[in-house]
Amino acid sequence: MSDTAPLIDPFQRAISYLRVSVTDRCDFRCVYCMSENMTFLPKKELLTLEELDRLCSTFIHLGVKKLRITGGEPLVRRGIMTFFEGMGRHLESGALDELTLTTNGSQLERFADDLYATGVRRVNLSLDTLDEQKFADITRWGRLPQVLRGVDAAQKAGLRVKINAVALKGFNEDELPRITEWCAERDMDLTWIEVMPMGDIGNEDRLDQYWSLKDVRARYAENYTVTDLAERTGGPARYVRLEETGQKIGFITPLSHNFCESCNRVRVTCTGEIFMCLGQEDRADLRGALRAHPTDDAPLEEAIRGAIALKPKGHDFDYSRQRLDGQMTRHMSHTGG
Ligand code: SAM
Ligand code: SF4
Repeated sequence: MSDTAPLIDPFQRAISYLRVSVTDRCDFRCVYCMSENMTFLPKKELLTLEELDRLCSTFIHLGVKKLRITGGEPLVRRGIMTFFEGMGRHLESGALDELTLTTNGSQLERFADDLYATGVRRVNLSLDTLDEQKFADITRWGRLPQVLRGVDAAQKAGLRVKINAVALKGFNEDELPRITEWCAERDMDLTWIEVMPMGDIGNEDRLDQYWSLKDVRARYAENYTVTDLAERTGGPARYVRLEETGQKIGFITPLSHNFCESCNRVRVTCTGEIFMCLGQEDRADLRGALRAHPTDDAPLEEAIRGAIALKPKGHDFDYSRQRLDGQMTRHMSHTGG
């Protein structure tokens, strides 16, 4: 490998954050994410664990400092700990600043200690409700007690846990105080995510479920002193602090056009497709270069640079006219959320 010039896109944004989906499979079937009878990709389409290692290592070589592993459910991929161990070497060398994952928590009881041992220090855990029946309804296949044991195990292992909750009208509106207090008690940050129009997943009408984060913020303001924080991570999240508890609450509003200018990230799917923007179809194949040149990373580097050169300026989601403009045809479980 020779050319180590950092990855800079045409709008002078340095790409330092990579999210990689390691599987399209999941042990849950959240209603806003998957249909109940999902068809998953044939195994040969997926990058092998070795290919995932090469791919991520190449991105790190090109300046990626933060790596987030996602899915599908990353912890249901067989042998995934081998991959995490492999990435641990980049933390040790200092090439990588942070290795994290987004998980539904179902397997954390089993893997929390191992994750910590590989160098993971933080996990994002998706949890939309603390009510057992509602949890079973929204995830279809998930069971709340198992996830709560996962939260316990993660904290016991020394992992910092951040809770991500999808804001759903008429579903978890009434739980806002309870979820917020629960996070405060356990010293966990909380981020609300606006539901996105992803894929065609059956009868669910996501405009009906749409709960604006402006409303969520207003709801907080009824009970707390809410201070806006300047902190940005280059992504779609904005943060406030609740002065009474000192808690930091995040709001991810992927549908509003307010973060593209600072976007520092790209996503790679479990099949080795790179998506340059969550809200655009712009993509490029990296698997071809990986498979055609198993021992030479130069073609892969070239493919990555070629893709970054095509990163679009911004995206097109728009709910403002109450229709799904810019609706994407792919699932979050494919691009990794
Ligand atoms: N299975 C893992 C999990 O649930 O955390 C990782 C993958 S999941 C696709 C990543 C995130 O995307 C989760 O926080 C999930 O709630 C969110 N997500 C999935 N579909 C969504 C949608 N239509 N709108 C907004 N967020 C969505
Ligand atoms: Fe699985 Fe995560 Fe999608 Fe739920 S949101 S179905 S846990 S991938």
